[in-house]
Formats: sequence, structure tokens, C-alpha cells
Amino acid sequence: MTVITRFAPSPTGKLHVGNIRTALACWMAARAEGGKFLLRLDDTDRARSTEENVVAIRRDLEWLGLVPDGEVRQSDRFALYEAAFETLHAAGRVYPCYESEEELSIKRKVALGRGLPPIYDRAALKLTAEERQRLEADGVRPHWRFKLDAAPIEWTDLIRGPQHFEGAALSDPVVRRADGSWLYLLPSVIDDIDMKISHVVRGEDHVSNTAVQIQMFEALSADIPNFAHMALLVGADGKLSKREGSIGVEAIRADGIEPQALLGLLARIGTSEPVAPVARADDLPPCFSFAHMGRAPARFDSAELEQLNAKTLHLLPYEAVKTRLPDGVDETVWLAIRPNLSTIADAETISLMIFGDPGQPMFELADQRFLSEAASTADAIDWADAPWAALTTTLKGSTGRKGKALFLPLRLALTGQDHGPEMAALLPLIGRERAIARLRLAAGAA
Ligand code: GLU
Repeated sequence: MTVITRFAPSPTGKLHVGNIRTALACWMAARAEGGKFLLRLDDTDRARSTEENVVAIRRDLEWLGLVPDGEVRQSDRFALYEAAFETLHAAGRVYPCYESEEELSIKRKVALGRGLPPIYDRAALKLTAEERQRLEADGVRPHWRFKLDAAPIEWTDLIRGPQHFEGAALSDPVVRRADGSWLYLLPSVIDDIDMKISHVVRGEDHVSNTAVQIQMFEALSADIPNFAHMALLVGADGKLSKREGSIGVEAIRADGIEPQALLGLLARIGTSEPVAPVARADDLPPCFSFAHMGRAPARFDSAELEQLNAKTLHLLPYEAVKTRLPDGVDETVWLAIRPNLSTIADAETISLMIFGDPGQPMFELADQRFLSEAASTADAIDWADAPWAALTTTLKGSTGRKGKALFLPLRLALTGQDHGPEMAALLPLIGRERAIARLRLAAGAA
């Protein structure tokens, strides 16, 4: 079987961490099996869908490297839905209903008051042809419901295991509004059939939709795809929090998070596998399995994302970042500085330490004398091999300084900072001339 998945966002908003996790699972499931990953834009809600969101969705997926093998838009496919709807109508699986919202709400309250589940009573099915004609002559346009079978509905979910629903306990869902517009349930099934989707991967908030949709697949004489419903995303404190799941991709990008870091985290939270940095998104699918995914909520922790971002940067080859590095940061510099970066923007600060004018604090007289000695020593040592070791060993011998008293004034004078990359890696990049000039400047008149 060819694995074909689809990611089906509604362009009524921007992508956030929660739906990126779904997109990633769809992408990994397809890539792991050499299958196809498709983008389906669920834009039947024309009033709330915007072109700006469509563009942002495509751009975010591209930034993440989750590039679809094809794209469809539901708004281009109304003829397909109409034809399937006609088939269901002819088979008696959709029926017109004329109740207003108020009437339905009263019916639900009455049922609940009697201790019954608020299931639609199918009163519309009992209308005679004349009664329907009269309603329509009075200008009442029908909305349409899908007629469920009372039979049990069962499937083995790839994440949740065996699932069981009683058709008789579910309400016939509305599939089409009185103005002819479509609700989500039926077009999704029609598309999944037409696009030959083999695996429907989505959040567990869709589990009860699946029960209903399985009957729709059957009513349209189609094979039923595999289903995998992913557990919810929760915050670091384990609580269901809107905030964590709704952090937008744009905000994450603006925070300097690398796409590989976001993907690395989202691929592993809520699974039995440990979170680990990856240099390329393509490293993720080979380790993917629905069997690794748990039913417990997945914890998304922004602090963990920041840590993983640093670890990810430490792995990235020069080729992967070169277009985003400041001038002068070549491969040698990159390899020397990457262990010290939390975000790529830190490369700017570090490159200033190397090539720019890092700025220096005022030194006390004793340190100025020491730095004057350091300038002379820097002039005398052999720079071809390990100049930092040569400089500090010589100064240790000549001045008797050691530890912090030895290293800190040197670091401050050479980089303007009291912390940063290993001086052993940094000093050869600063180079002889700049180093001596900085040490002389720091030594002042001493
Ligand atoms: N547009 C639906 C959603 O975002 C798609 C659900 C599905 O994957 O079938 O919830």
C-alpha cells in the first residue's frame, strides 16, 4: 500500500505549534514509507478563510521543510461534493431538515430534562412530501443531515488502539447548511476518498468525528483509511493550556528558533523516544512509528525548545547556515563559535568579538600592567600553533598569576566580554595583530 497522508488546516488562522505537530506526523508517516504528503486547505468557510493565511501556511511549511507533494483547496471542489451528495441523497443517506436553531435548542433541553442524550429525534424524516412542500413554499430552506446506521462502529486506531462507538448513540450530523454551504465532516470524507488518503492523522478532538465519517466512507462505497488520533498538547505544567498549543510559528521563528529544533521537539514529545537534536528534518522519518506515540498528553515546554535549539545549532554544518551568518564568519569561524550559540543571532555578537571593536572595560592598574606584559608576550609567542596555550603558559610563568586572575583580564581585554567561546578557539580567529592591539589598548599607559 502507498502511504498517502494529508495535512488539512483551515486558513481561518495561522499555523501554531499544535497543528505543526499534526503536519509533522503526517509528513513523517508518509516519508518513512516513501509515500506522499499532501496539503489540503479546508477553506469551505469563505467568510473566515483568507488568502493571507493560505500564503502564511505555505510559507511556514516551507520554512519547516515539510514540503507537500501536492495541494488541493476545498473551495475548488464543490462540484465533487455536489456529486457525492447526490449519490447519498439517492441512497437515502442524507435528508432535509427544517428546524430552526431555536427549535433544535428546545428539543435538546427537553431531552436533557428527561435524562436522555441530546440526540436529534429525526422528526424531519417523518414529514410527508406535502408537509415538506408547504415548508418550502413558505420559504423555509432545508439544511441536510447524514443518516447514521444504528450499528456499532469500530476501528483500530494506530495510536489509541481499538475504538468502539454505538451508531444509535450518535446524533445524525448536519452536513450542509440551508444556504447550501458545507460543514467540515462530509467534504473531508469525499476528499479523503478522491485523494486516496491511506492514513488520516489528526488530533484526538476528531475521534467522534471519525465514528461518523467511517459510516460516510461506507455509504460512498469507499475503503476506510487507517486512522491515527494524536493526544493533546499540554503546557510544561501538564495543564491543558491554550497558550502553549497556540504559539504561532511566526513567533517561534522571530525568537530565533531553528526549524530543525521545533521539528525535533514536536517529533518526540508524547512518544516513547527521547528528545534529541537533529541537523536535518530528513533525519526524523526513519525513526517514526505510530507505535511510539502515547495516549497521554504531550508536554510542550518553551524552555526545552530553547535548549534543543542550542543543541541543534551545535550540530549544524556551515552549509546549512551560511546565508544567515554575518560577514567574515566562514566555515572555520562557524565551527569555532557554534558550541556557544543559543540562537543564530548570537553569531553577530561573537563575530563582533572577533572582527569588530568589542569595547573594553577600564582595568585597574595591576591588571593594566599585567595586560602590558601580555601584549609583549603576544608579540613574542609563536602564533602558528595553539597561541592561547602559549600566551597563558608564558604569562603564568612570568607573572605568577593563575586561574581567574590570569584568564579574566585577558578575556575581557581580547573580547570585551567576561564569557563566550573557548579562548583557545577564539584567539587564532582574532589573530595576532588585533590581539596585540587590543591588549595594548587595555594596558593603557601602564
Ligand atoms: N480542517 C480540519 C481541522 O483543522 C481538518 C481535520 C482533519 O484532519 O480531518 O481540524
